[in-house]
Amino acid sequence: MSEAHAHSPTCCDDVPKGTLTVDEARERIQKALEPVSGIERVAIRDALGRVLVEDVRSAVDVPSHTNSAMDGYAINSADLPSEGEAELKVIGTSWAGRPFDGTVGRGECARIFTGAAMPKGTDTALMQEAVKRHEETIRILARHKAGENVRYAGEDLKQGDVVLKPGQLIRPADIGVLASVGVPEVNVRRRLRVAFFSTGDELRSIGESLGEGEIYDSNRYTIYGMLKRIGAEVIDMGVIRDTREATRQAFKDAAAIADVVMTSGGVSVGEADFVKEALDELGKVDFWKIAMKPGKPLAFGFVDDAVFFGLPGNPVSVMVTFYQFALPAIRRLMGCRETYVPSFRLPLMDTLKKGKGRTEFQRGVLQRDENGQPVVRTTGEQGSGILSSMSLANCFIILPRKSEGAQPGDIVEVQPFDGIV
Ligand code: AMP
Ligand code: MG
Repeated sequence: MSEAHAHSPTCCDDVPKGTLTVDEARERIQKALEPVSGIERVAIRDALGRVLVEDVRSAVDVPSHTNSAMDGYAINSADLPSEGEAELKVIGTSWAGRPFDGTVGRGECARIFTGAAMPKGTDTALMQEAVKRHEETIRILARHKAGENVRYAGEDLKQGDVVLKPGQLIRPADIGVLASVGVPEVNVRRRLRVAFFSTGDELRSIGESLGEGEIYDSNRYTIYGMLKRIGAEVIDMGVIRDTREATRQAFKDAAAIADVVMTSGGVSVGEADFVKEALDELGKVDFWKIAMKPGKPLAFGFVDDAVFFGLPGNPVSVMVTFYQFALPAIRRLMGCRETYVPSFRLPLMDTLKKGKGRTEFQRGVLQRDENGQPVVRTTGEQGSGILSSMSLANCFIILPRKSEGAQPGDIVEVQPFDGIV
């Protein structure tokens, strides 16, 4: 794995010196990372959510036999009348999975069902609605084309064709494709191991009672959830007390067992804790200020060989920086070809306030208006500590650095939390 570069932050025309834009930070992170090594062979069902490391080739032609796309009659196109009508004798039936084993001669046809093999001697399937049947004969008109309604062996995939490429994150359609080409197992990259802990003397675990100035640790739960969804192997190291020795030991232990170490809290400028001190000693970590809201402070680098993400402490900032930086980085470490999160543009229903100079990731709800058109509205209060705004939301509304807010009817960029597959 390559080392993070100890760049000193640059500045853009509209970004204060010493501050990175969201894109700059994301680029630096992506450049510093390579996929982890280690491969496992798994049954295709177990490959769901994993990343393929090989070309997968079809073991068969798909479809494996030339077949009918319709319920109807299989005929020889030489029997199609050029005008008027023709009469053909029905000599048998081809069912899906139970083909007709005779040969269809001139002046003859076979009853056929969707997916059934075209019998010998036939090259065209007529829809049942297009013919007139009387006892064991059918009458056909002149309007048909040779070869209609026939699906040819190998027209989807030929034996040996590459069906999936390395870097594919395996989704339900992909395990279906693998099954359709007769592949029982594939080689995938091993799961990423991510160790995480919270820092802060104010934090209590659920089950404990809260003293003056204390809060429950929620970041460990959101981080757990986000990592699980990505399919990482998670190692929850709990809350680490704000002491020099506990912090140092936690980093050493985490780096020894994980590919990625993730913390929340303790990375803002001027914080009186031991995170920075431990990282200076044990790792090579940059502390960034990013022109974004929420989520301004972020630490990134390496502790020993482990990739390190120091996410901010505020509960919404944790989730925003995770989705915007850690998610694409983790996908890269997992070997995914595609690391970006899609977004699109939609009309806004509300007024959004915004200060200039930082990209804002406001929380929104994608829904339909009274005409059934997709629109987005705000969840309301946008403070970085208001975790319920993330819970109410199903998308980020991304307001660019230079924006000074948005009005009802404005078209805004929206990034959904959940995709369909
Ligand atoms: P920090 O970056 O450590 O100064 O934390 C910023 C804010 O986030 C403070 O209000 C912390 O109390 C809060 N915070 C830090 N860690 C957590 C956590 N694990 N769960 C909930 N809130 C936290
Ligand atoms: Mg703290």
